[in-house]
Amino acid sequence: MIDPKAVLTHLDELRALTADDEGAQRVAWSPVWLKARAWFEQKLAALPVEHHYDAAGNHWVTLQGESERSLVLGSHLDSVPNGGWLDGCLGVIAGLEVLTSFSKQYNGKPPCTVKLVDWADEEGARFGRSLFGSSAFAGTHSIEADRVRTDREGVTLEAALKQCGVAVEKVGDASVEQKNIAAYLELHIEQGPILEKLGKPLGVVQGTKGVERWAITFRGQEAHSGSTPMEVRRDALAAAAKLALEIRPIARKHPQSVATMGSVKTFPGIVTAVVGRCEATLDMRDLDAEVLAGMLREAREASERFAKEEGCTVEWSKIWSIEPIPFDPELIAFCDQAIVETAGVSEQLPSGPLHDAAEVARIGIPTVMMFVQSLNGLSHNRAEDTKREHLEQAVVAFHALAEKTCKWILSR
Ligand SMILES: [Zn+2]
Repeated sequence: MIDPKAVLTHLDELRALTADDEGAQRVAWSPVWLKARAWFEQKLAALPVEHHYDAAGNHWVTLQGESERSLVLGSHLDSVPNGGWLDGCLGVIAGLEVLTSFSKQYNGKPPCTVKLVDWADEEGARFGRSLFGSSAFAGTHSIEADRVRTDREGVTLEAALKQCGVAVEKVGDASVEQKNIAAYLELHIEQGPILEKLGKPLGVVQGTKGVERWAITFRGQEAHSGSTPMEVRRDALAAAAKLALEIRPIARKHPQSVATMGSVKTFPGIVTAVVGRCEATLDMRDLDAEVLAGMLREAREASERFAKEEGCTVEWSKIWSIEPIPFDPELIAFCDQAIVETAGVSEQLPSGPLHDAAEVARIGIPTVMMFVQSLNGLSHNRAEDTKREHLEQAVVAFHALAEKTCKWILSR
């Protein structure tokens, strides 16, 4: 019933339509993105579905079933600039194939209602606000802070949305779409190296990792690099450098933790002065809230110790954080089964990147994601790729997961 080759044909078509030599250019709220969405609308013409755009620009396609209780499949057609051919659009196009298959199999009326959503602006590539549409849906958006965001040309988010027919003050109304949703499924490329390393095509996502993101400022004393003896220096960079090395053993204590010092700025930042002030950033992630809190505590203690050793002070200020969001245990089990039936082997892994599925899960809708292997772990890059046979397996397994979930919804 399911035709995985049709998904590949569509993906190739979309790539030809919306990529250039540098990669995919479907940046949300841009003409190329609108072109991708118009192309997608044409694909709906032959199906017995209703479709509409909600107040935040999310595109909803509904195949009405016997029951109002809805199974939702979703992902995003938008991409980063110079992006890959699979990130986001795989999930939308595979979802369309599942919808098509349900429609054929049940003569246009499956036992549960099946919806497909193309979330608006998952990437936040232009305005720096990721998960825009799904957070509006979930009611966790921060529109007052976001409306004045500008792109590189100085265009405001508000103006760009208006051009696409979305009124910024109304985006919260997208939450009406929550009605009757009983489960949410998302298929996505892994965007990391784990499944490839294990030689497994598909994996079940346990949830999205919590994130702690902090700015750390070490303060010492600016001093002349020629006249200041080594033993009296208060070198802020030395303290920061010790911390940059220490976060590695802190994270390695836990199998799935990661910690990154992604930015270090020194002041005055000249070749003839000891560093008086050093501003660093720290990003730590884990699926377990306690592990994450423990890592944060250890890093803080280490920073205080290193500051003291170097005659400096240290200050922490939070940039942003989000709690770990675990997916639904029953849906995780179904996803595991669907993968084993299709590929013979499965794997459970957390997601480091956030996804729209995290916003959906946050408000209590049972959710799970399926990952398909990424070659060389690359994504957000035109070199992003997945073997075609793995993509086909992903579509077959995702369809099987949708079938199991639909039955589960009706049994509750
Ligand atoms: Zn994505």
